Amino acid sequence: MFKIGCHLSSSDGYLAMGRAAERIGANVFQFFTRNPRGGAAKAVDPDDVSAFLDFAAERGICCLLAHAPYTLNACAEKPHLREFTRETMADDIRRMEYLPGNMYNFHPGSHVGQGAKRGVELIADTLNSVLTPDQTTTVLLETMAGKGSELGGRFEELRAIIDAVELDGKLGVCLDTCHAYDAGYDIRGDLDGVLEEFDKIVGLGRLRAVHLNDSKNPFGSHKDRHEKIGDGSLGLETFERVVNHPHLRDLPFYLETPNELPGYADEIALLRSRVRVCDE
Ligand code: FE
Ligand code: FE
Ligand code: ZN
Repeated sequence: MFKIGCHLSSSDGYLAMGRAAERIGANVFQFFTRNPRGGAAKAVDPDDVSAFLDFAAERGICCLLAHAPYTLNACAEKPHLREFTRETMADDIRRMEYLPGNMYNFHPGSHVGQGAKRGVELIADTLNSVLTPDQTTTVLLETMAGKGSELGGRFEELRAIIDAVELDGKLGVCLDTCHAYDAGYDIRGDLDGVLEEFDKIVGLGRLRAVHLNDSKNPFGSHKDRHEKIGDGSLGLETFERVVNHPHLRDLPFYLETPNELPGYADEIALLRSRVRVCDE
């Protein structure tokens, strides 16, 4: 079954997100665990969670993807910033355990002059202190555009982080189409080649989610500005190939395009119309 959805506002809780997802034709969704700029998270409401879980089971909604605030930096040079990242991630993962078996995505971080090697070490340290053997939440490293000193723009960097994490069974990767294209992976011209390279370096088994975004900028620009599906440098044909690719089609797809709910509903309908039914 094609799993498609988008980023939703979490301000009214889980059941409200489930209802919003259903209204726009989504069967998966992403949300921020707290204000994207950081700060305290609202307490989890167990009644809301159980009402949501019933609703989701009934309506076939699955694959929740919680997104960490983008102000976190697991490889910040200042220890108190790394500590803040650790505390936030540990708290987010604890909160996700109310909805067992889902996913938590974060931007690996920016090494800001410390060098990629040190950055990778610090990110792995952070993960080693927040992952627990009994958690059911899979933590996803997002592929990044490689803006400034951002890590995760190269598949090799993701591999190096995974290699340095003890509980690496808790880790996966989220492929962001805009980020990867901006980073210099030609998913428009050579999707097969990019996935082959991903498989060689990271392993396709790690790939657990896809962020579907067109890009406002040209190939290899290292910019990270999302565009509506079909309006950017990737183009609708690319997304048709992405959602139908044998290595990708069973993964959950999340739109993070510049849209409100009606725009998302249109994009979801458009992508659904491009999915080819296969008999396997
Ligand atoms: Fe992201
Ligand atoms: Fe993304
Ligand atoms: Zn982005």
